[in-house]
Amino acid sequence: MENSQKLRVRFAPSPTGYLHVGGARTALYNYLLAKKHGGVFILRIEDTDLERSTPESIQAIMDGMNWLDLKWDEGPFYQTKRFDLYKEYIQKLVDAKKAYPCFCTPEELDAKRKIAQDNKQKPMYDRTCLKLSDAEVAAKKDAGLKYCIRFKSPDDGETVINDVIKGRVVVANKELDDLVIARTDGSPTYNFTVVVDDVTMGITHVIRGDDHLNNTPRQLQMYEALGFPVPLFAHVPMILGADKKRLSKRHGATSVMAYREMGYLPHALLNYLVRLGWSYKDQEVFTREELIEKFSLESVSGSAGVFNPEKLLWLNGLYIREAKAEDLLSEVEYQLSLKGITSVDKNLLLQTIKASQEKVKTLTEMAELIDFFFIKITPDQALLDKTFSPDAKKALGLVSQALQGLTDWTSNGIHALFEKLVADTGLGLGKLASPVRVALSGKKISPGIYDMLRILGRDESLKRITPYL
Ligand code: GLU
Repeated sequence: MENSQKLRVRFAPSPTGYLHVGGARTALYNYLLAKKHGGVFILRIEDTDLERSTPESIQAIMDGMNWLDLKWDEGPFYQTKRFDLYKEYIQKLVDAKKAYPCFCTPEELDAKRKIAQDNKQKPMYDRTCLKLSDAEVAAKKDAGLKYCIRFKSPDDGETVINDVIKGRVVVANKELDDLVIARTDGSPTYNFTVVVDDVTMGITHVIRGDDHLNNTPRQLQMYEALGFPVPLFAHVPMILGADKKRLSKRHGATSVMAYREMGYLPHALLNYLVRLGWSYKDQEVFTREELIEKFSLESVSGSAGVFNPEKLLWLNGLYIREAKAEDLLSEVEYQLSLKGITSVDKNLLLQTIKASQEKVKTLTEMAELIDFFFIKITPDQALLDKTFSPDAKKALGLVSQALQGLTDWTSNGIHALFEKLVADTGLGLGKLASPVRVALSGKKISPGIYDMLRILGRDESLKRITPYL
């Protein structure tokens, strides 16, 4: 940062029911910048759309942020609790003749809009009510006519956005008509509340999706009208699907918490998202500390990133393989709970994580691989028929007998036992191991056979094998 003012950034979602991965990336960029510069990261809930802003959908945003461990320093602030403040600033603009009441009815406006469209002109408010005298306004108010408040956009000149990512964007003021800043019920509109909020919260950098770039000139006009200092703007390109259309449910899961359910690690998702629009040399994998150190707005790309589920999966697998088993505990517990398996023994769980983390790319796969340690899984009939032929039963009997006499119940001891059995019986390892695998796990695919036996222990292993002899 060039100046010594403390950096203050915000993430300002409108609750829509869940935290979208695009929103999470915006939150992440804000968070990283705040951490990097010892600044403040604010959460502001833009909840003026009362229909969508239910307590559940607001909670869903915070759940997503908490899961990703994107801790905010101030907030959450709610716009619905700040209506008095917005009113105060609207009044300031009206008093300064920079905003005015408009009594045009929706029908009148629709009719004018239609004429403009028929003439292939851009529909713009024609300022009928700007021409009203004070006396006319007072008379209409006395008559109880409904009115909204419009911002008086400058007639000429231009508004310039110096965007850190998009560069210089210039809009002719005459292209912008007089925007409604308070509806007939008095409620303020987005382009106004966002300015009042960003100013009163001392925001120094506005980092948000470039779907808001069109709104920025209007917001800048309001900064100007209110005499507010302008923050730095950085509009981040959208995330696209493989078909280059904006990422949506058509492309697969877009909700952060859906990724949790699918067995992704929060940091793997963040590491994936951060690279969708930002890069540091050709480094792919970053710790959180590295991200904080290396992130900068200047190296955010101006073009949209394409969401690649395969790459996210690869990254997730990498993080699972390299994680300390302890660090996977809570998420694996969550996965098991989705399968109805609760209150598991932590020590047992740790061992099963270690025995499976090399083999999976998601924790859902991991839970699928290790659930039998905690509950009894009965193999389906097809697997039973395929596995337990008379020969296989005979092999299982040999293994069972040998296991009963094994004194060294360790991976090495079990390994040596199987090697000896192979040598003594002339049976292949597969022939000996496969019925053991199915008897212990109820599955065709499982963690390594030596790990399974070691972790289950002699008693439990023999208990599971015996019914198949
Ligand atoms: N509430 C807006 C949204 O969810 C963001 C507004 C902003 O960041 O200025 O898209």
